[in-house]
Amino acid sequence: MAPRKLNKQQRNRIRAAQEKTIQDNTDSNHESPDLDTSVGLVIQHHGKNAIVENSEGELLDCRVRQNLGSIVCGDEVIYQHTDNQTQAVILAIKDRRNVLVRPDFRRKPKPFAANIDQIIIVTATVPEFSPHLLDRYLVVLEYIGLKGFIVINKTDLVSADDMDAIQTTMAIYERIGYPLIYSSTKSDHGLEALIQAVSDKNNILVGQSGVGKSSIINHLIPELDVQVGELSQANHGKHTTSSTTLYRLRKGGHLIDSPGVRDFGVWHIEPEQITAGFIEFRPYLGQCKFHNCKHLHEPGCAVKEAVNTGHISAERLQSYQQMLNENNAG
Ligand code: GDP
Ligand code: ZN
Repeated sequence: MAPRKLNKQQRNRIRAAQEKTIQDNTDSNHESPDLDTSVGLVIQHHGKNAIVENSEGELLDCRVRQNLGSIVCGDEVIYQHTDNQTQAVILAIKDRRNVLVRPDFRRKPKPFAANIDQIIIVTATVPEFSPHLLDRYLVVLEYIGLKGFIVINKTDLVSADDMDAIQTTMAIYERIGYPLIYSSTKSDHGLEALIQAVSDKNNILVGQSGVGKSSIINHLIPELDVQVGELSQANHGKHTTSSTTLYRLRKGGHLIDSPGVRDFGVWHIEPEQITAGFIEFRPYLGQCKFHNCKHLHEPGCAVKEAVNTGHISAERLQSYQQMLNENNAG
C-alpha cells in the first residue's frame, strides 16, 4: 500500500541499465528524431505484456523486456518497435514518483499503479452513510501518503434534514483538511466540481460497491466505451475490463480504475498505521502520560483530553477505538 520502491537492491541494479537506455533515448532524440525508441504510458498490464499509449494517443501492444521488474499502470516507459509491426518492446521504466502496492493473497505487497496524484474516496448517503468506513479509507490514504478528497454521492436520495445531519458530520473532515464534494449522478449535482477536481491529475477512485463509482466514471469519461473498445482492439480482441486500467479524462489527466483495489478500506492495517491515520491526533501523540498509550482507557491521555476540550471530535476518537478493536479481532 505504501508508495515505496519495491525490491530496492534489485531495482538499483536494474536502474543503472535503465538510466542508460533513457539517456541514450534522450540523446538520440536530439540527433535523430526518427530513431524508433519513444516514450509511452502504460494503460494496462498483463503478465509479460502491456498496452502502452504513445504521444499520439494510439495504443500499442508491448512485450516487457525480461529484467525490468514489474511494470504497472501509470508507468512511463521507453519502448521500441520490433520488426513485427504489431508489437513493440518496453526497454526501460522511467523513474516513478510513487508506486502503490496492495497485499496479494499471501499478504505480500504487490505494486498495482504508479505516478498517482490523488485518491478519490467515494461514499454515498444511502443505503448507509458510514463515517467509520470512511475513516478506514482515510487511514489507508494516510498510510499511502497521497492527497485525496472525499465524494458524498447520491445526495438526491436524502431529505433536507438528513442532508443537514450529514453535512454536520462532514464538517469535521473539512476542518481537519479533507476536501469534500457532494454529488448526485442522477441530478448532476456537484459533477462539474468533480470534473474540475480530477482534471490534469492522475487519479485513483476507490469506495465500496454500490456507492456510484461506475456512474461517476461514466460522467468523468463520457466516451468510456470508445476507450474500452480501443483497449480490447490493442489487446487482440480480448476483454480487459477486469484489469487495472488507466483511462483518459476529458479535460486532461487520467483515472485509474482498479476493480481489486476499489474496496481498499478493508485491507489489513497495523495499529501504528491506524494511529497515524487519524491526522488530527498527531499534535497530541507523545503527550500522553504513558508512552505506549493507545488512547483507549489509559489515564492521562492527551488525545482524550483534546476531545474534552473540543479539539478532536468524540466520533473520530470512537471510530479510532473501534478500528483498533476490529484489528485485534481480525
Ligand atoms: P459502484 O458499484 O460503486 O460502481 O456503483 P454504481 O455506479 O454501479 O451504482 C450503483 C447503483 O446506484 C446503480 O443503480 C446506480 O444507478 C445508482 N446510483 C449511482 N449514483 C447515484 C446517484 O447519485 N443517485 C441515485 N439515486 N442513484 C445513483
Ligand atoms: Zn493517549
